[in-house]
Amino acid sequence: MTSDDLQRATIALLQELIRFDTVNPPGRERAAIEHLERYVSAAGFDTEILAADHERPNLVATLDGEGDGPVLVLLGHVDTVLADASEWRHDPWSGDEADGFLWGRGALDMKNQVAAEAVAAVSLAREGWRPTSGALKLVFVSDEETGGDVGARWLAETHPDAVRCDFLLNEGAGAVFEYGGRRRYGVCCAEKGIFRFNVTALGAAGHASMPRTGDNALLKLAPVLTALAGQPEGFELTEAPAAMLRGLGHDPEDPSGALARIEAEDPRLRTVVEPMLGVTLTPTMSSASSKMNVIPSRAQVRIDCRVPPGLGEDAVWRRIRQVLGEPSDELRIDFTEEVVGNASGVHSELMTAIEEWITANDPAASTVPVILPGFSDSRWFREAFPECVAYGFFPQRHQTMLETAPLMHNADERIDVRDLGFAAGFYRDIIARLLG
Ligand SMILES: [Zn+2]
Repeated sequence: MTSDDLQRATIALLQELIRFDTVNPPGRERAAIEHLERYVSAAGFDTEILAADHERPNLVATLDGEGDGPVLVLLGHVDTVLADASEWRHDPWSGDEADGFLWGRGALDMKNQVAAEAVAAVSLAREGWRPTSGALKLVFVSDEETGGDVGARWLAETHPDAVRCDFLLNEGAGAVFEYGGRRRYGVCCAEKGIFRFNVTALGAAGHASMPRTGDNALLKLAPVLTALAGQPEGFELTEAPAAMLRGLGHDPEDPSGALARIEAEDPRLRTVVEPMLGVTLTPTMSSASSKMNVIPSRAQVRIDCRVPPGLGEDAVWRRIRQVLGEPSDELRIDFTEEVVGNASGVHSELMTAIEEWITANDPAASTVPVILPGFSDSRWFREAFPECVAYGFFPQRHQTMLETAPLMHNADERIDVRDLGFAAGFYRDIIARLLG
């Protein structure tokens, strides 16, 4: 199959997928999943539809080799976030191809990758290729955008034998960016954890007409918010971000100096890189009195806190003490959500294969490990199969990271059609390389 054919086939499948409205909630991914099942089973894949919710199934499609060997999973979710058609230049469910782009909700997150993975695998299968050993699995799931309760999480927890793997490729990174005069492709190796907490100030109620009655709890949050607004730098460097700084030519022992140089090159890059290097504290919600004329006896600010993979509450407390000082009787801190981040090592056979593919297909470029400030379905696979090496990688050579990021979950989501061919070529080569 020529690279032109591969690109045309990926465009066509992506258009078909975008035309299924799979906005989650409610999702209703069945038609899209069944469409993919027909496409891959016609090429010789064994398919299995596994569903916790009949209208929201998951597809596991397998191409077996002879005997034991590595299992490679190409993962993708077919649900999307919502879209308001009135804000778009092309209807979000049109799949229009115009101006060199394919337009629609899911064109970047992540029907693009589902289409490229399916086309790559099907093109090999149609030519009669089979893994020498082990297996190739396409795992296309519902329900990523709201947590995977009937999607990847449910699949990994309740049907581990169907999706157990040694290598996994999923979403998370891969669009090219320039740094230090060199083209770089991020490979997502880790995802941050979430430790959300409330800061509650306590006082005494009183009548608002007489401010000295009572003890206004809301005012006690003022120094908290001021401290959050002026947070000093703070670093907790784990393996992947340290490798990233090294990859960009900086010393991970001096993250502050590295950040300054990154900012000097492009301030937008600092915005992306800084959260990878430590615990972030972001106030997002607050509440105090429920009555206009009552001085609040309680006031609360909620902090969305993200923690580098592998670190837990200790790291959060180090950051809290650095920014806010010690909690007191009048200022309480309570955690409401604690999820430790997840990671795969930055050195692996899969990483080597990705690096060598990039060198062969974009000779002046290199790869760098990156970490996601949020999390994806990789989390459920890393949890269920600790030995599995999972990376987020969808290579885009033409549409850069800085062009791509603002379109995610936004109006006018679109992908440069040349990148659909580029990525499909990558999946095709990586399958053949890892599974013989
Ligand atoms: Zn996604």
